[in-house]
Amino acid sequence: VFVCFEGGEGGGKSTQSQLLAEHLRAQGYDVLLTREPGGTTVGAELRRIVLSPETGALGDKTEFLLYAADKAEHVETVVAPALEAGQVVITDRYVDSTLAYQGAGRALDPAEIEEVSRWATGDLRPHLTVLLDLEPAAGLGRFEGRDRIEGESLEFHQRVRASFLALAERDGEHYLVLDARRPIAELAAAVAARVAPLLGQ
Ligand code: C5P
Repeated sequence: VFVCFEGGEGGGKSTQSQLLAEHLRAQGYDVLLTREPGGTTVGAELRRIVLSPETGALGDKTEFLLYAADKAEHVETVVAPALEAGQVVITDRYVDSTLAYQGAGRALDPAEIEEVSRWATGDLRPHLTVLLDLEPAAGLGRFEGRDRIEGESLEFHQRVRASFLALAERDGEHYLVLDARRPIAELAAAVAARVAPLLGQ
């Protein structure tokens, strides 16, 4: 089973993905918790390059291709083998982040971004995507200036948010959209309840 967490900045994706991993491990599942960008050795380097404020301005296409490379390596060497081995794979960000940030945020053609991202991942799709939805102004306040992307305009982050929501709407049965302002334990319980049937519970 393949679950991913998506959403803008400061919505608690890392917290919720960790809580889900702990919950499932406590039930005896073999869980792989990973993230994008940075879920592989090469990916960690790509993450550093693409997010470091020292990188300065980066062409939109260059940025996208670095994320696509991170994704290809992640799926091929980490995600697919783990799924094959029967592990539950939980990833903090996946293709939707690229469709939202590079496809809707930047001036790139969303259809082309989607096509290349699907190609990079061999069109491997999650069984469930949990979208932790949050008004950008609320999320950004939590760690201002932590990386290049957080320095983008509010309009950029609003386009990103709208894109995540549109993706969820397009394919509703594979999404759980949650209001990220809800208490952490409540969100974790909602996620656990939605994941249980995927595991045959
Ligand atoms: O998941 P995390 O918040 O650590 O991601 C690091 C940064 O990478 C975030 O600022 C996010 O907006 C950015 N990002 C991006 N495009 C992606 C994935 C992440 O701009 N496809």
